[in-house]
Amino acid sequence: MKIYLDNAATTQVYPEVVEAMTPYYTEYYGNPSSIYSFAGEANKAVSHAREVLANMIHAKAEEIYFTGGGSESDNWALKATAEAYADKGKHIITSKIEHHAILHTCEYLEKKGYEVTYLDVDEYGTVKLDELEKAIRPDTILISIMTANNEIGTIQPVAEIGKIAGKHGVLFHTDAVQAFGHIEIDVDKMNIDMLSASAHKINGPKGSGLMYIRKGVRIRSFIHGGAQERARRAGTHNVPGIVGFGKAAELAKATLKERIAYETVLRDYLINRVLEEIPFSRLNGERVNRLPNNVNFCFQYIEGESMLILLDQRGIYASSGSACTSGSLEPSHVLLAIGLPHEIAHGSLRLTLSEKTTKEELDYTVDELKKIVERLRSMSPLYEDSLKEKRS
Ligand SMILES: *Cc1c(COP(=O)(O)O)cnc(C)c1O
Repeated sequence: MKIYLDNAATTQVYPEVVEAMTPYYTEYYGNPSSIYSFAGEANKAVSHAREVLANMIHAKAEEIYFTGGGSESDNWALKATAEAYADKGKHIITSKIEHHAILHTCEYLEKKGYEVTYLDVDEYGTVKLDELEKAIRPDTILISIMTANNEIGTIQPVAEIGKIAGKHGVLFHTDAVQAFGHIEIDVDKMNIDMLSASAHKINGPKGSGLMYIRKGVRIRSFIHGGAQERARRAGTHNVPGIVGFGKAAELAKATLKERIAYETVLRDYLINRVLEEIPFSRLNGERVNRLPNNVNFCFQYIEGESMLILLDQRGIYASSGSACTSGSLEPSHVLLAIGLPHEIAHGSLRLTLSEKTTKEELDYTVDELKKIVERLRSMSPLYEDSLKEKRS
């Protein structure tokens, strides 16, 4: 039995994607920057992927820059904007629930003399628009708010954020790594100036990402070297990785509507069963306005890590918070930001579905989860105490 419910951490590379990539390792291995005709195939494939990926977000092909993944794009967006616009100001606005690729880059910039405002979110993980607007100052150069959260799935009011940024003449970057290929994104309608996306979150290969940079945005090159990517991101193109990203996006686009519908039904089924059948459980994030494949619960009186180990023994692969925070004993910064106390934030479980997840798999998962929660609680002195308190 293998039930993979950690699709926010990474996804299966689809066989069609591998098939599309393979010839660019073994046959058309030429460097796309070379002049001879043999390199032409590789060059064409990169251009095709660029078109497809631009189409996904209603951008122009020349506004897409290939990178080595979501983290690189996030680093690039923040560091290069900070540098290019330092003459205008040194203030950046972000939120407390961003991915560490954003938060740790912001901390780095603070050490370099930039000032960062970390916006609070409401109890569902949504940025408050009035507070965002109030935080804008004459020296604000960038707003970076994620499209959808990787832990609790909350979708941000991106179009409204874009509108506010535009009104004040501030650049708007969004980390769309969890949202790209999972929900509709339109960089024009949403007034997005820069956007990060990553192939391995949409059934593409790892280590392949992109940054959308709107034409006219002043941004410095991030990797210095050759003239690839309009001299803004040097390095020989990862041709198979780019081809795989393009193919994954093509598939994601073709199935988007039905996938959203299918996953939403499964997601809500899972939420309802858990909340009804497991006492002292809580859903984290917005009930409706959340990624179709994301579920995140807290189970009071339980350690998230012990739950994961017991689930693993039953062939169920899940996560507590994000893959990046596991291994540290700190509770998730996202759960703390939505106001959960430390002891509850420790007992969180994230289950992220795919279009291949079945109802049977979820039934098995909930059945096992019920037993696991019961067993762990029976060993928890806190749980015993709380029961005694209720009785007295
Ligand atoms: C996964 C993820 C990233 C990092 O992307 P990589 O391609 O793994 O570097 C950044 N932001 C969010 C929201 C993510 O979910």
